[in-house]
Amino acid sequence: MRVLVLGSGGREHALVWAIARSPIVDEVLCAPGSDGIAADARVIGIDASDSRALIELVKREGVSLVVVGPEDLLAAGIADRLQAAGVAVFGPSAEAARLESSKHFAKAFMARHGIPTAAYAYFTSADEAESHVRALGGPCVVKADGLAAGKGVSVCAGPDAALRAIGEIMRERRFGVSGAEVVIEERLVGEEASFYALCDGERFVVLSHAQDHKRALDGDRGENTGGMGAYSPAAPIDARLEREIIETIVRPTVAGMCAEGRPFRGALFVGLMIAAGRPRVIEFNARFGDPETQALLFRLESDLVPLLVGAAEGRLPPDSPTVRFGDPAVCVVMASEGYPRSHLTGREITGLEALAGLPDAKVFHSGTRRVAGHWETVGGRVLGVTARGATLEAARARAYELAARIQFEGAHYRRDIGARAFQARRS
Ligand code: AMP
Repeated sequence: MRVLVLGSGGREHALVWAIARSPIVDEVLCAPGSDGIAADARVIGIDASDSRALIELVKREGVSLVVVGPEDLLAAGIADRLQAAGVAVFGPSAEAARLESSKHFAKAFMARHGIPTAAYAYFTSADEAESHVRALGGPCVVKADGLAAGKGVSVCAGPDAALRAIGEIMRERRFGVSGAEVVIEERLVGEEASFYALCDGERFVVLSHAQDHKRALDGDRGENTGGMGAYSPAAPIDARLEREIIETIVRPTVAGMCAEGRPFRGALFVGLMIAAGRPRVIEFNARFGDPETQALLFRLESDLVPLLVGAAEGRLPPDSPTVRFGDPAVCVVMASEGYPRSHLTGREITGLEALAGLPDAKVFHSGTRRVAGHWETVGGRVLGVTARGATLEAARARAYELAARIQFEGAHYRRDIGARAFQARRS
């Protein structure tokens, strides 16, 4: 079969890589893809939001499955339009993707279905939001309602910071129309983890979990980013907690979405806060995460493709098959100078060629291009250096050893990806 992946980042590179390993796949296409992704897929330079061009491509190339990477395509209804044309799509409808694209929808949904999460209030008026945080008087979290590339969230120590965040979101519209509405939440304290399940609207298959590193600098300091690295499996999640996450969060979410007439088909990625051994939802995402997917899928031993097809076609096996994962993996993101603020690009990257074809590591490309026979940077996040090892320590050491062999001017990366796992174990 032929599979088409939509998107162009590191997550899509990892999806392409995992799908291409399937014995039932003849060819993977990727649109719009990137020069880095072209090492593992046939890249088709069309706009992934142009559903007419996509449908034409699917028909012409005999594609039997489309896998959607980014959330903005889902929120804009790409899955609806492809499905209406008879194309099998892995990724939820716009209505089901509201679990991610509207924080208010997600919070109200969790309240309706008794899913554990932080207490919240919702505002369309900046004045009212400001009165609310003054009345709270303590820590809180301010979130723009809509999609903001993971950056519309401020964790605030007190009212002053919350007032600043409301001003940026609602008055200055730093995140555009996403800031017309805000959700203000109780601040949760604990260990974060990302939990993944593949859903077909009624049934689900549990994948595994990962821990992301959102802040720009070591020790979780600095600004929020799209993600500076990840490791999998996530240290805070053991078998008991996994069962609790499935029973109190994943199962009621899938059942609730189905009962409300918006069945969720695709990757359900639950962002969790774990405190005192109890999981609570920080946020839902309606697709795979970046860079968690690089670490997660690099561990995968089962064939991903029958599960993606089963989810897309509403026929996952009823008996919840176990998906096999191997050794731990770590993904270290190498970023451009200045990221996550405005950053410098067009810098030549050296050292990549020597890292191709390694059995225990893979460099996934997020923001690179090939120019006149060499690689150069084009994005804020540039590469995801991903390695496996018999232990998490070994995987980390290997990822850092390989990252040190890649050079570009101004490159920066965190030195502590995965280190929280050891701290969590010690405490
Ligand atoms: P989100 O985009 O919703 O994942 O939020 C980005 C980051 O903000 C999360 O990864 C958390 O670190 C933090 N965050 C979000 N909601 C909360 C909360 N209720 N309590 C504490 N931290 C939060």
